[in-house]
Amino acid sequence: MRLDVEKIRNDFPLLQQRVNNQPLVYLDNGATTQKPNVVIERIKQLYAQHNSSIHRGVHWLSQQITGEYEEARGIVQNFIGAENSHEIVFTSGTTGSINAIAFSFGEKYVREGDEVIISGMEHHANIVPWQMLCERKGAHLKVIPIDDQGELIPGALEKLITSRTRILAITHVSNVLGTVNPVKEIIETAHAADVPVLIDGAQAVQHGNVDVSDLNCDFYVFSGHKIYGPNGIGVLYGKEKWLEEIPPYQGGGDMVDQVTFEKTTYNQLPFKFEAGTTNYIGAIAMAEALKYLEQIGLDPITEYEEELLGYATSRLEESGDIRIIGNARKKISILSFLIQGIHQYDAGMILDKLGIAVRTGTHCAQPVMDRYGIDGTLRASLAFYNTKGEIDRLIDGLQRVKEMLG
Ligand code: PMP
Repeated sequence: MRLDVEKIRNDFPLLQQRVNNQPLVYLDNGATTQKPNVVIERIKQLYAQHNSSIHRGVHWLSQQITGEYEEARGIVQNFIGAENSHEIVFTSGTTGSINAIAFSFGEKYVREGDEVIISGMEHHANIVPWQMLCERKGAHLKVIPIDDQGELIPGALEKLITSRTRILAITHVSNVLGTVNPVKEIIETAHAADVPVLIDGAQAVQHGNVDVSDLNCDFYVFSGHKIYGPNGIGVLYGKEKWLEEIPPYQGGGDMVDQVTFEKTTYNQLPFKFEAGTTNYIGAIAMAEALKYLEQIGLDPITEYEEELLGYATSRLEESGDIRIIGNARKKISILSFLIQGIHQYDAGMILDKLGIAVRTGTHCAQPVMDRYGIDGTLRASLAFYNTKGEIDRLIDGLQRVKEMLG
C-alpha cells in the first residue's frame, strides 16, 4: 500500500507554513517531529475537558483521566509488543529513561571494577549517564568501535565482554549515521554472557515496527516528541524481573505504598518508577500519535521512507563534492553530510534563508565526530510526510550554497 503523502501533509498544520517567504521544507525530524492534528486536538480537549491529577481522586475528572492514562499505557505496550502493561513506565523522554536505568540498575548491580559497554555511535544521552555511573562506582566504560561505513566492527563486542560486564547500552539507530544496528543479534551475544541490554530506540520506533518481546531486550527507551507526540514524555520499557529488582529512581508521591518516618514501602509496577505528578496529558497525547501511525501503517511508512532515503542519497551523491558520513548497509532516513570546502553552519544558514530546515553541528554525538575527524555535519532527517520534491529543493538549495560560498 502506498502512502497518500499529500493527504498526510494536511494532517500537520506546521508543515503548511512559509518560512523566509518560502514554503517550509522541514528536514530536521531526527531532532523532533511535527505533530498531527489528532495530537494537537487531543491535548486541547484534555485540558479543556478532562484535566485533573491522575490516581488520586474519587471524583469523576480524576477517574476519567486515570482511565485514559492507563489506556495510553496499554497502547504503548501493544505498539512495542511488551508482554505486560506494567512493564511500560512513563518518563520525561529517552534521556530521562536512560538516567533512570543508569541510576537504579547501577545502584543495585554495578560495583568497583565492573564494566559497562556502550558503542562508538551513541548520542550523549546514552554516554553521559553511564559515565556518571562509572565515576560514582569506580567502574569502567568500554566502547564498541565503529568502522568507516558507520557500522559496528563485527566481533568487537564479543572481545569486550568479560565476567565483570554488568550491562550493555546501545542505540538501535544512530542519530548521526542512520545506521540500524543488528540489535537482535547483539542482544543474543550479550545474553549468552548473562549481560542485560538497554536499547536506545529514540531514532528507531518512528521508522518501523519494533517488538521488544521478539528482540528480547531488557530495557527499551524512546521519546514522545520524536514519534509525532508531545515533548516532555517518553517511555521506559523494562522486563518485569528487572523493574521488580532494581530500586526506584526518584522518591515522591505516587511511587509509594506506605510512608512513615521510619520506613517507606514502594508501590507496585509501574508506579514505583513514576514519582510525582507525571506528564499524563503528554502520555495520552503520545498514545494518540501511536494510534495515528498505526492507522497509516508502520510497514508503508518504512517502505516510503526507504524510498526517500534512496532518492536523497543518490541525489546527494550526484553532486560529487558532497561527502555522506554514514554508509551502513542498513540505514534509516537520516543523511549526515559535508560539502567540500564549505562549513556546515554557513550552509545551514543559507538553506534556512531558502526555507529549508536542516540541522548543523555535532548532533549531541561528539565522539562520532571525533571518529571521523570532523567538527560537525549538515543533517537532513526525513519523515514520512516529506516528499521527493522537498529533497529536490534541498539539492537546489545546496547548489545555491555552492554558488555563493564555493
Ligand atoms: N538517543 C538518541 C539516539 C537520540 O537521537 C536522542 C535525541 N536526539 C536522544 C537519545 C535523546 O532524546 P531526548 O532528548 O528526547 O531525551
